[in-house]
Amino acid sequence: MVDIKSMNLEEMRTYFQEIGEPSFRAKQVFTWLHRGARSFDEMSNLAKVLRCKLSQACRITVPTVARKQESRLDGTIKYLWELQDGNCIETVLMKYHHGNTVCISSQVGCRMGCAFCASTVAGRVRDLTASEMLDQVLFTQLDSGRQISNIVLMGIGEPLDNRDNVLKFLELVNHHDGMNIGMRHISLSTCGVIPGIEYLAQQHFQLTLSVSLHAPDSETRSRIMPVNKKYDVEELFAVCHRYFEMTGRRISFEYAMIDGVNDHDWQADLIAKRLAGMPGHVNLIPLNNVVESPFKPSRRVAAFQKRLESHGIATTVRRSLGGDIDASCGQLRRKALEEKEGNSRQ
Ligand code: SAH
Repeated sequence: MVDIKSMNLEEMRTYFQEIGEPSFRAKQVFTWLHRGARSFDEMSNLAKVLRCKLSQACRITVPTVARKQESRLDGTIKYLWELQDGNCIETVLMKYHHGNTVCISSQVGCRMGCAFCASTVAGRVRDLTASEMLDQVLFTQLDSGRQISNIVLMGIGEPLDNRDNVLKFLELVNHHDGMNIGMRHISLSTCGVIPGIEYLAQQHFQLTLSVSLHAPDSETRSRIMPVNKKYDVEELFAVCHRYFEMTGRRISFEYAMIDGVNDHDWQADLIAKRLAGMPGHVNLIPLNNVVESPFKPSRRVAAFQKRLESHGIATTVRRSLGGDIDASCGQLRRKALEEKEGNSRQ
């Protein structure tokens, strides 16, 4: 069965020609799909025979809400979506003063192995299709009734480990006949997959790149992020400089503060040294406790921030949303999996 929602308009036109239908039908179907149509039967401006023909050849991805938790503190909503093959993924909807931001997953699980992250504990199951990423935005908007203005690819998975589908998703969600969300309203977060960053730089996308840095020195970074053994942090900084030169876009560096591991002043000094010549922004994240991990939240967030700022580095400390609903980093999916396996840890 053809995953028709993963097609861009051009591909859909070609597809309609191939099945002997006029290509203008493509735009009609594209529009229906991007408004959240769940079946071809809903597409009332298509002839019944065509609807029937399409439903025999194509499938329309539609996730179902397996769980939904709404924070009483700040209105954050966390969805656990069940996909058509029974896999579950998380999406988080957050309210900011500048609008609603949705944080979406790019893979079922993750194989990057960061030592502090819940999403990677059981490895990667599979990549998400472009349609499954689009669905997270589309059905979160439809279910919540809140207009989504910003997207962050910061949920479960490593977007640059699923590059082609992610790029296709960006094209779809950005399309003016679809959700029409501007590239400048989209952030992509990576643990540092260098060829992927290089590719984005060449494309001159206007999206915001977030790099999960978490340590500026090879030794510490390799200890907490296995990806560093393949793509060393020195080379990562080099590619970030190239990215800035090529796109003119400021990179945001994510830095989860871990007690006694990456919160020393010398590490702040090293960040400043490596960023010299580039207007980076460091987002300090109070570490979320993950049951499976031995790491504890740092008590030096303010001191570390001060040290960075003394070097002229722009910093923020991430405001934590949805603290009452396990809204971070693969925690809800883990919980659901554990309950399924009947070994839920309290
Ligand atoms: N794979 C991508 C995107 C998903 S993770 C990446 O690595 O960037 C989204 C962000 O949450 C990353 O910066 C990740 O390092 C961070 N993160 C993961 N577990 C965390 C935890 N326990 N506490 C704080 N931040 C965490």
